[in-house]
Amino acid sequence: MALRLHNTLTRHTDPFTPLDPPRVSLYTCGPTVYNYAHIGNFRTFLFEDLLRRWLEASGYDVFHVMNLTDVDDKTINGAVKAGRPLAEYTRQYVEAFFADRDYLRILPAHAYPRATEFIGPMIALVERLLANGVAYRGDDGSVYFAIARFPAYGKLSRLDTRELKTGASERVSADEYAKEDARDFALWKTARPEDETVGAAWDAPFGRGRPGWHLECSAMALDLVAKRFGRDVLDIHAGAVDLIFPHHEDEIAQSCAYTGEPEFARFWLHGEFLTMAGTKMSKRFGNILTARDLHEEGKDAGAVRLLVFNTHYRQKLDWSDDALAAAESGSRRLGEFRDRLAERPAGVPAKPDESAWTALAERSWARFAAALDDDLNAPQALAAMFDFAREGNALLDSGVNPSADARAAWERMEGVLAVTPAPALSGRLLAEQSLEPAGEPAAASLPGEPPADPAAAIAWATAWARVRREAKAARNYPEADRIRDLLRRHGWEIRDNRDGTVEVKRAGSA
Ligand code: AMP
Ligand code: ZN
Repeated sequence: MALRLHNTLTRHTDPFTPLDPPRVSLYTCGPTVYNYAHIGNFRTFLFEDLLRRWLEASGYDVFHVMNLTDVDDKTINGAVKAGRPLAEYTRQYVEAFFADRDYLRILPAHAYPRATEFIGPMIALVERLLANGVAYRGDDGSVYFAIARFPAYGKLSRLDTRELKTGASERVSADEYAKEDARDFALWKTARPEDETVGAAWDAPFGRGRPGWHLECSAMALDLVAKRFGRDVLDIHAGAVDLIFPHHEDEIAQSCAYTGEPEFARFWLHGEFLTMAGTKMSKRFGNILTARDLHEEGKDAGAVRLLVFNTHYRQKLDWSDDALAAAESGSRRLGEFRDRLAERPAGVPAKPDESAWTALAERSWARFAAALDDDLNAPQALAAMFDFAREGNALLDSGVNPSADARAAWERMEGVLAVTPAPALSGRLLAEQSLEPAGEPAAASLPGEPPADPAAAIAWATAWARVRREAKAARNYPEADRIRDLLRRHGWEIRDNRDGTVEVKRAGSA
């Protein structure tokens, strides 16, 4: 079966085909970097990570863009309150976002355009809309998009005119009288004194000011995708359901009025909210939990991912401690099976019959793939993994060693969902168990790349950590830093304990 995705534009689950197979352009609306992202935001980013990973596992070559909204009302207010320039204020939250992303094992996008770095393309977009007559300067000096002059408006959200009016007027206040129509939205907002104070104002032919939020996404997506694909239409655009209106509706209006294309993106995917005790997680409601809270509590990212993927992305997900505890135990169960599968020595089959493993692997992979092909049905894909583990454990118990294809099938599933615990790797434990004679290994004898085998990789990282300790003792700090960076590049963190032992752990593990 081929991949089918629920497209908000058609309200159907449609077969997915990109414009230039096997290449796929994927644009996802990223965080507003005015604070730490909460796990509601990350639920959306995890759904997008699953989408990306499954597209790649299906053979697509994905170009993933996620913007960083680093200029808008929230970021400007934050910078004003903190008494710091906007760029300096947002930088800390960009860094925090990347750290949280890595903790949650979310694959980095190929580009993270910051709105403040794309002011030029935004100005060009507004100029063309003004020239086309679909935008106008309001009495307050801001530039607005005239919805009445764009007949396709409302195509995505399917709201009627009356609803659109209500939706718009809830969001506007001061600028209501400056516009021709209450539904019109700002493309460019005229500079206020506080914008100038924090460095959030730019010169433009139509007046000094700053971009509207919707404009940012259109300009960045079109610029990056057009340069790479030579097209003005995206394959997939994703976000959470609250972005359908007005954000995505407005992105479509601006982009299509600019490019002349009938569509901005061919597939629009929207994930449901994460709630707590039934209420949407939101700073506004004060019910937030951040990824760093979970990280500091020592929660394994595998469990968090399992909890999130256990609910289909188009269903609401209610977060609770009980749900997390259940996910932790499920993740551990899968991790134990993973370890048993990896540890069982190859080539010493207690029973040489591998066909039971091959059949199990084929059946499990077919179920797993069919589930994800069906609009990313991750709960069903997880069920296939749990059944694989249960039946695989029974085979191991009865002394049948796994076949290479069974191991490979398991690893492919893990590669898509990444829901097992980070291996509990302590170099100290390993060193105690190690048969290696006393004496430090020389850096020259250690390879710069870790071995593929997980146990050998721990030994490799531990050995480098010990070389580094020696370097530090000899005050060779550049060498110590080089080794730390080398390990980091391969996903390892090191700790030097006061008692002279070293520990290595997988970055992101508790
Ligand atoms: P923001 O940082 O506010 O721009 O939001 C980043 C992303 O998180 C957007 O796609 C939002 O729609 C999404 N989002 C915000 N709150 C939630 C929630 N409670 N559950 C799921 N997604 C959310
Ligand atoms: Zn957006």
